[in-house]
Amino acid sequence: MPYPDSTLITNIAELVTNEPDPSGRGSFAAIVDAALVVSGGKVAWTGAAARAPAADQLVDAGGRAVLPGFVDSHAHLVFAGERSAEFAARMAGRPYQAGGILTTVAATRAATDSTLRANLRRLAGEMLRQGTTTLECKSGYGLTVADEQRGLMLAAEVTPEVTYLGAHVVPPEFAGDVTGYVDLVCGPMLDACAPHARWVDVFCEDGAFGADEAAAVLAAGRAAGLVPRVHANQLAPGPGVRVAAEAGAASADHCTFLTDADIDVLTSTPVVATLLPGAEFGTRQPFPDARRLLDAGATVALATDCNPGSSFTSSMPFCIALAVRDMRMTTQEAVWAATAGGAAALRRADVGHLGVGARADLILLDAPSHAYLAYRPGVPQVTAVWQAGRLAAGSPL
Ligand SMILES: [Zn+2]
Repeated sequence: MPYPDSTLITNIAELVTNEPDPSGRGSFAAIVDAALVVSGGKVAWTGAAARAPAADQLVDAGGRAVLPGFVDSHAHLVFAGERSAEFAARMAGRPYQAGGILTTVAATRAATDSTLRANLRRLAGEMLRQGTTTLECKSGYGLTVADEQRGLMLAAEVTPEVTYLGAHVVPPEFAGDVTGYVDLVCGPMLDACAPHARWVDVFCEDGAFGADEAAAVLAAGRAAGLVPRVHANQLAPGPGVRVAAEAGAASADHCTFLTDADIDVLTSTPVVATLLPGAEFGTRQPFPDARRLLDAGATVALATDCNPGSSFTSSMPFCIALAVRDMRMTTQEAVWAATAGGAAALRRADVGHLGVGARADLILLDAPSHAYLAYRPGVPQVTAVWQAGRLAAGSPL
């Protein structure tokens, strides 16, 4: 008996499943000469192509690779305007400063809903066509009660993984009054935003929010039912990773400047270390030491940090290539971090892998193996994208 309403994808040269080993520890896993059956929007069967069961529909992968869709667990897509001149100036020698965010805040506040929605949908579509089937999206360019709430409501139109980032930077009207702004973020702004978000985030960095302020924002968010995640240790060593662990955060993001104590925190707690190499690329900063984290046993995710200031890429394949070339991750580690790692950072068990029962979010590469994502950087190789078993972009032909 075939599986109901089923599709068999066969003649797959390499099927990346990321099925956990018997100990439950996550790592890259793949089947060669494989097939996969989708039924009811989920993975129903995986195994050797020679043993594949019958199905209602057949897709011939033509000796190409199938992977789980990418899980981009860190993106800022609700904004207006662009900052290419700032990027060009920085490439000509000027350093990145957190205050550049305020340029985007001003443009975002001035924008209409339809302008913000059009930009958001364009970027989300761009991500989908490049293989991202789950994305996280933050507010953080409104910084008023109404503008933050608006950002979250728009983000919720494209993803359930919505993050309240009222504590992105102190807006100009609160210059010199960080305490007053934190009170707003933890009070009326949180009340307006919490119903529209799953996560709460804070930019814990010199020039943004210190340890005590960050802890207060995360505690208030938790009390309102949100789960913490933190922008931590991007520009210099600091308290971000420790604050994330103490708040029970799902993820500490950036992790560019870590002490031995930070590494201990990331290996002894469930906090995922989310690395955002697009930000180091776009600001010409040193890349995070992924090898140190991986060799110590930390769980590592890769994400784009897509935003108009420091990392205006929506491409997970680009981040994988950077991670392999410049952060010395193996091709297997980088692909795992961009799929199952991102799922761990979002505490999602249904995506990031293609084990039986997983959501059928998958991509067909125009290449025989996952390694081509780094081996052929900058080349569009994502041929077809399925979400919950439905063809959402491209074509398998
Ligand atoms: Zn960010």
